[in-house]
Amino acid sequence: MTEKSYGGNNGIREHLGGPVKSKTDKPNKTTEKKIEKLNKVSNKITKEIDKEINNYIKAGEIAIKVKEYARPIIKKDMLLLEIAQMIEKKTYELGGEPAFPVNLSINEVAAHYHPTLEDETKATGLLKVDLGIHIEGFIADTSFSLDLTDDKKFTSLIKASEEALENAIKLLDKDPTLNDIGKTIQESIEKRGFSPIVNLSGHSLAPYTIHAGETIPNHANNSPHRIDPGAYAIEPFATTGEGKIHDGPPSNIYRVANPRTPRGPTARKILEYIWMKKQTLPFSLRELQEEFGNISKLGLKELVDTGIVHSYPQLIEVSKKPVSQAEHTFIKTPDNKIIVTTR
Ligand code: MN
Ligand code: MN
Repeated sequence: MTEKSYGGNNGIREHLGGPVKSKTDKPNKTTEKKIEKLNKVSNKITKEIDKEINNYIKAGEIAIKVKEYARPIIKKDMLLLEIAQMIEKKTYELGGEPAFPVNLSINEVAAHYHPTLEDETKATGLLKVDLGIHIEGFIADTSFSLDLTDDKKFTSLIKASEEALENAIKLLDKDPTLNDIGKTIQESIEKRGFSPIVNLSGHSLAPYTIHAGETIPNHANNSPHRIDPGAYAIEPFATTGEGKIHDGPPSNIYRVANPRTPRGPTARKILEYIWMKKQTLPFSLRELQEEFGNISKLGLKELVDTGIVHSYPQLIEVSKKPVSQAEHTFIKTPDNKIIVTTR
């Protein structure tokens, strides 16, 4: 999944501890007990952070395996539905859970498309496969682009987003500003004669939360902000078009936005199921169709109409030109170590 930019940027971070602050009071009789207590708390935090980091790494390892599995199998004219089901099945087999319904977006659709059960759309052109895995809520968000044309006309466009991603990752050890990262992404893409999509960006991740508040821009900006410890996705998009997206038709991807009790029994049943299975993570109409049949459409409509559930629109390049995408997740540990989890 990706993040539409609204221009704001703040330094929210909610986990991976932030800096573990140890008080360095000089030991004396009155503070000895305090220190002992602090050490216990600190040990507990360290253990929790280690567990978080391990879960991020585990989710990343599964994401890598799912990509290795899916990449060679996906061929031109395969049903998107078949690809989606195959990726989901593999995710569970490997001990992960989907962090969101795999996005299978073609050509000018930059992101956020998932087939319904009756969808007959076939893989073609420039296909972005954007998948997410989570372990106990700790997410790996990663994507790759496939050129399914006979004359491989999208090779350079795909390379542009891949190079932008690699160049951005290379910077991370140097504690770059958000401007440094965005500028590198933009320049890498422009070097190949394409444009970055300026209103899509990378983002921070938090437990059970795909977009945790902070964005990582795909273009030069004036942010002096540097990245705090936490988990993040970087995801450059390159296009031959104008370099902007707008909202399109529904993507068949949803998320619980305002949990409260709906009126209709079907809506209630669906909400209970989603809340138990996904919490605040995105889900698809297809999953509901598989669980409850087509009646789920009515229940889901009620949930969307009453604002309980948010419906994600497809994100479409404004000049209807093809878009490529590359994405990795990385964590920055409290001691400022960078670990890219999805490659
Ligand atoms: Mn993604
Ligand atoms: Mn993402």
